[in-house]
Order: sequence, then C-alpha cells, then structure tokens
Amino acid sequence: MLRMPRRRLFTLGGAALIGTLPAPRIGDPFTLGVASGDPLPEGVVLWTRLAPRPLEPSGGLPPVTIPVDWQVATDDGFTRVIRRGTTTASPGYGHAVHVDVQGLQPGRDYFYRFRSQGHLSPIGRTRTAPAKAASPDSLRFAIASCQAYTDGYYDAWRHLASEELDVVFFLGDYIYEGAINSVGGNRMDSALRLPDTYELETDTLDLYRMRYALYRTDPDLQAAHAAFPWVLTWDDHEVQDNYADGVSRFTTVPEQDFLVRRANAYRAYWENQPLRPPRQPAGPDMSLYRRFRFGDLAHAYVLDTRQYRTDQACGDNLRAGCEDRNDPDRTLLGAEQRDWLLGKIGRSEARWNILAQQIMMAECRYGGPANRLDMDKWDGYTADRRRILETATRTPGTVVISGDIHYNYAADLRVKFDRPETPAVAVELVGTSISSGGDGSDSTPQLDMQRRYNPHLRLANGQRGYVRCELGRDSLRADYRVMSQVTRRGGEISTRASFVSERVRPGLVTA
Ligand code: FE
Ligand code: CA
Repeated sequence: MLRMPRRRLFTLGGAALIGTLPAPRIGDPFTLGVASGDPLPEGVVLWTRLAPRPLEPSGGLPPVTIPVDWQVATDDGFTRVIRRGTTTASPGYGHAVHVDVQGLQPGRDYFYRFRSQGHLSPIGRTRTAPAKAASPDSLRFAIASCQAYTDGYYDAWRHLASEELDVVFFLGDYIYEGAINSVGGNRMDSALRLPDTYELETDTLDLYRMRYALYRTDPDLQAAHAAFPWVLTWDDHEVQDNYADGVSRFTTVPEQDFLVRRANAYRAYWENQPLRPPRQPAGPDMSLYRRFRFGDLAHAYVLDTRQYRTDQACGDNLRAGCEDRNDPDRTLLGAEQRDWLLGKIGRSEARWNILAQQIMMAECRYGGPANRLDMDKWDGYTADRRRILETATRTPGTVVISGDIHYNYAADLRVKFDRPETPAVAVELVGTSISSGGDGSDSTPQLDMQRRYNPHLRLANGQRGYVRCELGRDSLRADYRVMSQVTRRGGEISTRASFVSERVRPGLVTA
C-alpha cells in the first residue's frame, strides 16, 4: 500500500541510525495531521508537526533535530512526484515543519505528504492560486472561525471537507486559552481524559503548544486541513479573550508581562499554522496582515484587528452612549496596516476585494432602552470603519468576511447605518462558529431584538457551521450551512439561507 520504502533502521552492527542521529524509538510522529496554506500562483506552504505523544510537553519527543522528507505530486498515488526535499523539525520550534514549495503551476490541485522516522504522514491535497494575469470565472471558498474544543464535536469540519472549494478562510479563535476542566465540557462523555496540565490557562509556550496539539488531534479538523489550502488570521483567544495590542483584559497586568505572554502565543501560532517562514514572530511582534490574489477576479486582504488596536472604548463590552468610540484618533488596524489597506483597495483592479478579518463590521444595536453597542467590534472604532466604507464607495465589489461572535449574520454595509434609504456600498458575511457555544439555535430573544433594531441585517441565526461562498465575475453567492447539533457526534448539515449580491450594486438578496 505504501509506495515509499520504509527507512532502513538497522545497520550491519545492529546500531540504529537515521540520518546523523541516534534513532529515538518513537511511535507515529504524524498524530497532528498535515496542512497547507497561503496559496500563491507558483507555490504553497506545507505544514506538519511531529508529536508521537501529542498531549505531552514536547509532543513526546527528545530535544533533538529530526529530518523530515516531503513530496509534492500531481496524483494522490504519488506516481508523478514533481517536487521533493528534506527539511528538519527542530525542538526550538516544537518540531514543527514549514515547507515553502515553489515552482508549481497556477490554479491546479497537488497532493503532498511527509516521511520521518520510518512513518508516512497522511496525504494532503492543496491548490495553487490562479495566475496573476488569469481571468477566472469563479472562486469558491468557505468562511469558518471559533472552534472551542470542549464546546462540541467538529462534524462541521467533516462536512466542509467534502465541499468543492479553492480555499478556506479561517478568521480567528483557532484555540481558546481558558482552563479545560479535564472532566468537563461537551466532549467529556467520550473516553478522552486529558492530562491535568490542561486545567491551566495557557500562558507559557509549552501550554500554548499543547493546546494546539489537542485541537489538531481531532480527525475532522485534520480532514478539513488536508482537503484545501487555508488562509488564516487570528482573533483574541489565540492569546487572551478581548486583549488589545499590549493591554491584557486584566488591567492589573503590566504591559511588559502581557507582552511575554503574547510572544509565547504568537510563537506557538506561527509554529502550528501553514504560514511562510518570514512570518515568524520577533518577540511579541508578528506581521500577519497580507494580500492574496486570485487572478483578476478577487484580491483578499487578510487583516489583523488585535495586534495594533487602541484599547476598547468606555471599558469594553456592551455600552450605550459611549462617545469615545467615535474619536478619530482611535484605531482598530493601526495606521500602517490601515494605510496599506486603503491604498491597495483604493487602487484595486480586481473585480472583488475580500476583507478577511475577525470581527463584525456592520453596526449591531443590541436593542432595549439603552440600545447598547459592542466596544470590542468595529462599533467601538468608527473612524477606521468610516474610512474603509468611504473607500468602498469608490471601489465596487467589496466583501467583508468576519467571525468571532458565534452567530451567522448577513449585512448590507452603509457609510451611515442610520440612513437605511442610502445605497449599500459593500456586503458583510459574518460566519458562525464551528463549535463554540454548543448547539445554539435558529433564533433567540437577542437575535429577534437585533433584527428589529438593525434594518441592514438580512439574516441573524445562532446555529453552528460555516459559510460557503462563490464569487463570479458579476455576482456573489453565499450559502449559510448550519449543523443540526455539535454536542453529540454525527450532526448533519443543511443550508439555512442563501443570498446573492451584485458586484456593481451591492445588497444581499435572498437567493
Ligand atoms: Fe470565538
Ligand atoms: Ca473572538
């Protein structure tokens, strides 16, 4: 069945040798699966991480560097291998492997796998972006976010893996940092018993690494990574709930202490995702915002709304009557990222500009006499929002995709949300969580209230799942795929709502 011969582990004298290292006698190191990401026309990043005992510190590996072979083929039987090489997994980076494969053909599928310590990894499939000068008829993608491991099973990922997609956008909350009670949570009816260390909130590099390892052991998540290239950004829980730049959610924590934690979190993030090596963080800083091009059809701008933001206005959370939120000096993106984005979309020659980011951009009134707004979202940073939407007025085809809040929303975006008679300038697709929040429900009193107070919302739904999208030359289609359940295995998926929007006259219409 395996087409590559296993490494010869024994030499004449019986001494075990692999490469230049004494062979650690380990089990299958590929327990965390494989992944690919950040597709370019000529290349893609391949990822894996060696961890024969994934829930232990260091993944159960000794502190030695281990060689890892990789192959890229045009067929899943690996009879036509077109790229191959050997890299190393080093203990300094949690035995993670990042291969920046180049020299591929644009707009086509490839298969990849790794080999190490006499074991072959699972096979992954990936896809390069179309050529820069190409004019593709369509781009198919999914929007997903928020996968709290103990809130539910990942059947949504298994359904996503069987969709036909070019790329997956993951918009944040890949892990949650909070303590996991080793006998609690929606998954703990299973045989799984976690080591006591999972009862600690993540703040050290080891604890963040172990948290990623726990999530990545899930076979449904592995299937989704192995099926498509992903483009990821982070939100808050990859570090700490609702943090802002160097400011912890706990105001008593000094900035220099919080930045140590942020450095650990960013380091573990880079190690555990298919990101190019130059993205590797320097201390507490990691540049994650970047652009991807899909021919002339779509440019995707992947944003970071956590690392450079002004601290939340008026003490964060839901507030009414907070004037600070409109202060023009407040920023969600930071001046550098904002100028980069506005410059690029202002001059874009793509049919569509996708803003792939974390938090809801549309105004969202929570209703009630005080009519509160959420200070952690774009509602708390209206100056940056207005600049983007004014630019979108001159740039047809702006689509904002978002995560974070564990609800599905579909929204028309206007420069002035209190003027529903004015034309929409862009549309926003807010995708619900994969598992965070448990089963959820189609409606809640809060969602009913939001529908009433926010006439630009075309959908408000509280089930789990993801959004499947297709961009054509002139119109967008979005299907909100929702799960029957996630707190028990075997949840089924169905389409709750579908919308279309025209490129030159934006506005979501039921399909
Ligand atoms: Fe979340
Ligand atoms: Ca979040």
